[in-house]
Amino acid sequence: MSVEYAVAPAPQPSVAVAGGSTLFPVRRIYCVGRNYAEHAREMGGNPEREPPFFFMKPADAVLSSSNNGLGGPHIEMAYPPMTDNLQHEVELVVAIGRTGVNIAPEVACDHIFGYAVGLDMTRRDVQSGLREAGRPWEMAKAFDQSAPIGAIHAAAQVGHPTRGVIWLGVNGVERQRSDIARMTWSVAEVVAKLSQYVRLGPGDLIFTGTPQGVSRVVRGDVLNCGIAGLGELFLTIV
Ligand code: MN
Repeated sequence: MSVEYAVAPAPQPSVAVAGGSTLFPVRRIYCVGRNYAEHAREMGGNPEREPPFFFMKPADAVLSSSNNGLGGPHIEMAYPPMTDNLQHEVELVVAIGRTGVNIAPEVACDHIFGYAVGLDMTRRDVQSGLREAGRPWEMAKAFDQSAPIGAIHAAAQVGHPTRGVIWLGVNGVERQRSDIARMTWSVAEVVAKLSQYVRLGPGDLIFTGTPQGVSRVVRGDVLNCGIAGLGELFLTIV
């Protein structure tokens, strides 16, 4: 018996898996706030090791070459409405492959399918206003196309990276450069902590926080970013 929906069901958001023809189906997108001390400092916050905090983006905020027809690592992002201060945050993205709750850090790797480079695009002006008012962040973080992401590299191929350069340039000028080893909370610790709050499942993505150097972009800018071993991503703001 086939199901009849009252309206057309939305297509399944997905991200390409590197080196093959399969797609990673996106279920939920979690993000970690302030996971590099230097970025916490530039945001006017406490660089000390406070417990990680989380926010979300909708699954269909992913913007990948698998869903825009350009192919390869080149993606176009439409400049979003309601902001005059769109900013880039380059981040290591963890792709969850196995269900888990209360996952111990020691076995967190068993739940990870792979890794990618991604961008937590942010309406910084909106975020500042919401922060000051003590209101929810969604309209600053969870807008359409707010999660550009490169191909996911399977851990079976690349292992579980714990160090390596993470960088981003705008129009060929470097803006962000750090090492994923400098994350305040490691990938294993992030997965463990997040799984205390929610049941993680196959298809979940976790954006693990950005290093210092976030800056404003405008239409026409070309962003280029990467993480050692996980390839590069090119994003044109149109
Ligand atoms: Mn971020």
